[in-house]
Amino acid sequence: MTRKIDILDTTLRDGEQSPGCSMNTQEKVIVARELLRMGVDVIEAGFPVSSPGDFRAVSEIGSIAGDQAAVAAFSRAVDSDIAAAADALKTAERPRIITGIGVSPIHMEEKLRMSEDEVLERAAHAVAYAKSLVDDVQFYAEDAGRANPEFLVRVVQAVVDAGATVIEIPDTTGSCLPEAYGNLIKTIMENVSGIENVKVSVHAHNDLGLATALALAGVRNGATQVECTINGLGERAGNTALEEVVMALRMHGDELDAHTTIQTRELTRASRLVSRVTGMSVQPNKAIVGANAFAHSSGIHQDGVLKARGTYEIIDPAEVGASGSDIILSSRSGHAALRHRLQELGYSFSEEDFEEVYERFLEIADQKKEVYDEDLESIVQERQRDIEAIFTLNALQIQCGDPLVPTAVATITDAAGVRHVVSVTGTGPVDAAYKAIDKVVGIESDLQEFAVKAITRGIDAIGEVTVRITAQDGRVYNGRGSDNDIIVASAKAYINAINRMIQAQRSRS
Ligand code: MN
Repeated sequence: MTRKIDILDTTLRDGEQSPGCSMNTQEKVIVARELLRMGVDVIEAGFPVSSPGDFRAVSEIGSIAGDQAAVAAFSRAVDSDIAAAADALKTAERPRIITGIGVSPIHMEEKLRMSEDEVLERAAHAVAYAKSLVDDVQFYAEDAGRANPEFLVRVVQAVVDAGATVIEIPDTTGSCLPEAYGNLIKTIMENVSGIENVKVSVHAHNDLGLATALALAGVRNGATQVECTINGLGERAGNTALEEVVMALRMHGDELDAHTTIQTRELTRASRLVSRVTGMSVQPNKAIVGANAFAHSSGIHQDGVLKARGTYEIIDPAEVGASGSDIILSSRSGHAALRHRLQELGYSFSEEDFEEVYERFLEIADQKKEVYDEDLESIVQERQRDIEAIFTLNALQIQCGDPLVPTAVATITDAAGVRHVVSVTGTGPVDAAYKAIDKVVGIESDLQEFAVKAITRGIDAIGEVTVRITAQDGRVYNGRGSDNDIIVASAKAYINAINRMIQAQRSRS
């Protein structure tokens, strides 16, 4: 048997730090449920001291994870951070505190303004303090990729002695070549006494497009935990993509003496879910989960694949759950069929809520002949969005055409429950709708990006609109909306982005 490699998913912490990818507690719980279904070993659920919203998310995820996965909370090597992490993790059956400090010359001199000895002492203290609160303590040596290896060994020795159970060696800036990073892991394996009693973990960023290669180099040299995110979300160019590492280990496990216990059939669904929740689209040529990952268009390739799939396809799409969504429901489907399918997708509802979902399902089913999983997911997520909505679009009527002045009449309810009816003209139907929303909301933001796509096949498909806005403080927010009518979907997406902006501003204060 090869070595079991733990998968630590940090979509909800590092991934959420991607510009525009902030998620509310409810959205994080939805993602966490999918991570549990997929079988990740550790869910890094947030950074509790950073905001009340993060604290709540860690706490709720702790309560749903049970013994299925360890739940980890991030902290700096600061007592109050560590105490907040421990508090948020009280609900967890298997809590893990992650704490750490910068160890590269530039981090110590420019950011921390601390000497090597001070950093060493602070690291050991943080681990000892965390260890007094929970058993499982992971230490990260921030920017280890650019650290002096001898100093790194001293730090790791100190935190192992202080009781750390997992040692994370991040290439925080994604600056290493795989071979050098592998050697760094090897140096630690060979020079720290007691290292055989702890787990060594790799955490890499994709600034040079090497994150997956770095993670695999770490595994080859002794690491037994990989930190990653769905779709490779994360700071800047992102983190190691979970789906890439898992499939690479599946294909080359013997060579690397490694395997994971991830349910690979969940990979495509998890990717779509995270994309929908964060509003961050997946590039079509993304490895494993991109829309084109299993598409063959050149004549030579098509000919080969038809003769023997293995000629140009190294992974069976079914293995990653990408065999296409099944046509399962129609307007003739009853309550039981819908409830069953939703449960398979991971959603359950109270009787009352289910009735509302069923009503909406019938509306969609009446308009379309076939209802796909993606349609169901958009119904459910639309609803979940509404629950924490601040502004809600009640009605939208548009007049447009040639020759006509595009005019929008919108009814919007605000957080106080007051209904506003506004009528506005614009240069086009979307412009008119957005100006109507602006008039009610009264907060300035800049529309950066606007994209429409069909979620499912056919001319009657649900249209999905994603938008990206920049608030006055420069922060970016994504919004999504879906509807059979793309102008309505556009308005919902814009309101969704505005609601996210307001929620984020509230949760920070
Ligand atoms: Mn990171």
